[in-house]
Amino acid sequence: MTTLPATSRQVVFPGPDRIELDDIDVPAPGADDVLVRIRKVGICATDLHLLAGHIGDPFPLVPGHEFVGEVAALGDRAAATRGLAAGDPVAVEMLLPCQACPRCREGRYNLCDADDMATGLERGRQYGVNVGRDVPPGLWGGYAQYLIAPREAIVHRLPRGLDWNVAVLVEPLAVAYRAVARAAVRPGESVVVIGPGPVGLLAAAAARSAGAAPVTVAGTRANRLELSRRFGADVTVNAREADVRETMIEQTGRLADVAIEVAGSTAAQQEAVTLVRRGGRVVLAGACGAHTTVSFRADDDLLTREIDLLPAFLSAGGFEPAIGLLARGDVPFAELVTHQFPLDDVAGAFKVIEGREGNVVKAVLDPWPDGDPADPGHA
Ligand SMILES: [Zn+2]
Ligand SMILES: [Zn+2]
Repeated sequence: MTTLPATSRQVVFPGPDRIELDDIDVPAPGADDVLVRIRKVGICATDLHLLAGHIGDPFPLVPGHEFVGEVAALGDRAAATRGLAAGDPVAVEMLLPCQACPRCREGRYNLCDADDMATGLERGRQYGVNVGRDVPPGLWGGYAQYLIAPREAIVHRLPRGLDWNVAVLVEPLAVAYRAVARAAVRPGESVVVIGPGPVGLLAAAAARSAGAAPVTVAGTRANRLELSRRFGADVTVNAREADVRETMIEQTGRLADVAIEVAGSTAAQQEAVTLVRRGGRVVLAGACGAHTTVSFRADDDLLTREIDLLPAFLSAGGFEPAIGLLARGDVPFAELVTHQFPLDDVAGAFKVIEGREGNVVKAVLDPWPDGDPADPGHA
């Protein structure tokens, strides 16, 4: 039996560079709603950019889009249409698409054109990014104990018993999977990943699982390159010490069929097109910041080599394969989660990430550091 919580603790960004902790009332879920009790939420570079005010004015905001948890309570229609019950472990996609526009209907809901439709929904709403806390019921961010999933939310069931520290990687792995899927990587193709952050490391694992061989990972942080070997990399190149193109050719015998750029810099994007063979594919998955311009040599880099440039945005279609990969457990996913923090130490967590302390790869928040909320003894 479930008792509804009266309130939820949340981290709130009231404005740029301000972090607060607050409680908010939790209403009983409506007929179409799922109330999710958050068990783990990943900290993303996006969250730091949000706090710094680099991503518009979403304030007051409850950040967090990489969350997993379990169904705390749900409405009648949500239970019937989703086939879910209280206690089920779930992941919710960060994007709230309209599910009605032509882009949604062709499966590219990351490009949802909701504004063009009569749904009354806005385009591009994302949990923890651009739905403010002032939008009722204010439960739109993952840095919290509870969150609401309305009718249009995409909710995935997670395998029971999956370690929360593995499950919490589902969103970045889904992003990585979409990048690999955009390039339609085939078995035996050579793939190079630029930028071994969490998504880059997961992209190496996703490429490997798609049959890519060899997989090369290029970056600048030694500990992450080291880790990438455990995530499917056959060859690593420290770009501070060696030329990526030369080293890759030397070690693999050829240019790559596919380059996946997740470094989020225009320099990395420009380099990516030089790492693939004629007719190769280049996936651009890193965000470089608003109003950033990138240039390529039109003839030498693109035209005469017929390079396919394939931007990959968010995670559409990536959650189900990601869940399958996480559940299979043949990659040491939990090793990515290097740091854990309670909700009241977001400032400390951000400091560790910004200062690159303790070889941090993925830091996550635990909204229930004092005990298991499913435990009946837990108030
Ligand atoms: Zn993220
Ligand atoms: Zn749509």
